[in-house]
Amino acid sequence: MPKIGNTKSIEEIPCSRCGSKRKIAKKWKEKIQNSSGFMTLEHTSVICTNKVCQAEFDAVILADAAKREKLKQIKLEDSAKRMAASKTAE
Ligand SMILES: [Zn+2]
Repeated sequence: MPKIGNTKSIEEIPCSRCGSKRKIAKKWKEKIQNSSGFMTLEHTSVICTNKVCQAEFDAVILADAAKREKLKQIKLEDSAKRMAASKTAE
């Protein structure tokens, strides 16, 4: 069982990339509905106070998102091709 009640706040954990202090950039709540009713998810966006480190991180995130988008597109095209292939095979 994981320990519940982490006493360390997210800001106290140093940046895993450069070891600098981090700070909360944004906090927001999201209400989602599931089978047992509503639940509220709390999101926290933490950024590194080291501007160079954070800029690099942002670039990585952007590149990652682009990569994922590309993969998604390839997958979609693949399944479309497979669908078309299975239709002609019938
Ligand atoms: Zn950092």
